[in-house]
Amino acid sequence: MSLRLQLVALFAAVLAATLLVAAGFGLRIAQRSVETEVRDRTVELARAATAALRRAGTDDEQISEELAATIRMHRGLLRAELARPAALGLDSDFVSARVTPEGITLTRWRGPLPSLPRASAIVDEPEQGRALRWAEPFTDGRGARARLVLIASLAEAERLVSAERRVLFATAVAAGLFLIGAFWILLGRILVRRVDLLSSTMRAVENGLYDVSAPGPAEGGDELAYLARGFNRMLAQIRGFNAELRAKIEDATAELTRKNRALEELNELLVAARRDLTAQERLAALGQLAGTIAHELGNPLNAVSGHVQLLALRTDLPDPARAQVQIANAEVHRMAEIIRRFLDQTRGFKPAAETVEMQPLVDEALDLTLGTEARAKIQVQREVLDGASVVRTDPGLVRHLLTNLVANAVDAMPNGGKLEVQARREGPEVVLRVADTGTGMGPEVKRRIFEPFFTTKAAGMGTGLGLAICKEIARALKGRIDVESEPGRGSTFTVRFPAEATS
Ligand code: ADP
Repeated sequence: MSLRLQLVALFAAVLAATLLVAAGFGLRIAQRSVETEVRDRTVELARAATAALRRAGTDDEQISEELAATIRMHRGLLRAELARPAALGLDSDFVSARVTPEGITLTRWRGPLPSLPRASAIVDEPEQGRALRWAEPFTDGRGARARLVLIASLAEAERLVSAERRVLFATAVAAGLFLIGAFWILLGRILVRRVDLLSSTMRAVENGLYDVSAPGPAEGGDELAYLARGFNRMLAQIRGFNAELRAKIEDATAELTRKNRALEELNELLVAARRDLTAQERLAALGQLAGTIAHELGNPLNAVSGHVQLLALRTDLPDPARAQVQIANAEVHRMAEIIRRFLDQTRGFKPAAETVEMQPLVDEALDLTLGTEARAKIQVQREVLDGASVVRTDPGLVRHLLTNLVANAVDAMPNGGKLEVQARREGPEVVLRVADTGTGMGPEVKRRIFEPFFTTKAAGMGTGLGLAICKEIARALKGRIDVESEPGRGSTFTVRFPAEATS
């Protein structure tokens, strides 16, 4: 139910109650005044009649005539009752004359005159309804104490009152309807229109339009205007807060963007630094690899050197050939010397033994190797099992192993896939497992992947040294590297090396 309807209903209820009470009082007063008028008239008649009766003397007939004339002449008089002693000085023998418009009845009775407690009273007449009774004591023509009682009908008065009641009711209904209508219109003008404006402004605010204001209801000095002004002030505050908040968000966003950029730059620096470090580690491992190659070359070179020396001792050689053999002997000797010196240098390479936390190491290797593109398409699962959480080994070499294997796995999954990196403990060994769901390898490729400079990648994309270096690192760590692979299903590289777990 709308506010307007509620207020009008309340107003109508109050109005109806007020009108009812007022009409009730009004009718009561009207009735009283009509009754008073009837009584005054009856009193006047009674006094005139008693004067006439006194004048009529003692003649019963004349007295009756007088009473009949009074009844006839005054409409509304129902009857007159005269009671007087039958003889002068007698208080117990009465003659009573009862006069009605229909006729006169004379009665005589013994006994005292029945007393009437009040001169004026309202009585119920059996046929005529309510009536006013007036008792007027007087002294008759003989000088005896007599009493005249007049009964005047109140029917006319009541008819008037009921007519008045009808008029009053019709007037009250018309006035009530008019007042309710006027109240409805007035309410619309002074309240509903302004409340509507206020509520439509509120709805606009609910929908996020903070730039609106409630101008209409703010006019004037009543509570509604006060409310609207308060609402406008609140809106202004919200607008202020909003602007402040927006500015703060913009500042924060700008700051975030700046920090992001700084972070990106830092990350790039880190990647570059890591690349340098990896390059250095690769060089170190390459040195190790070269040492192995030199070592492998040493035996055949010794054989060649022995044969060339034997050849140089031969006397049957023609001079030019001897000279060439001697040159070859000298060169082979020089080569053997170079290899020996090289081996002397590389034999100094010893992996460090440090206490290493594996989880950060694995995280670091993944963070450095996985670019944004790879992160988006590859699902990475990393796991460092309890026994391998802290071990003693060479962190640089392990990091190098992991980055190489992860980089290869990423290259093998150009369309995305799943990469698993796991470090676990198996007895005295640390086992690193890097598995991918990439292209995998056929047996021919698998057989050759640890050869230096073997690559299936496009020129400029691979050097073919990564796995060869990994193998050297595994060897340096006194361990080994194995691979399982199936074309189209992926590859799993496993590196095992002995390491002393520290906890
Ligand atoms: P590069 O990565 O520079 O080619 P590597 O020695 O690291 O050199 O790898 C040699 C070759 O081994 C690669 O060219 C590739 O054919 C193969 N390979 C290495 N890792 C994987 C792998 N995870 N999945 C499939 N092939 C691989």
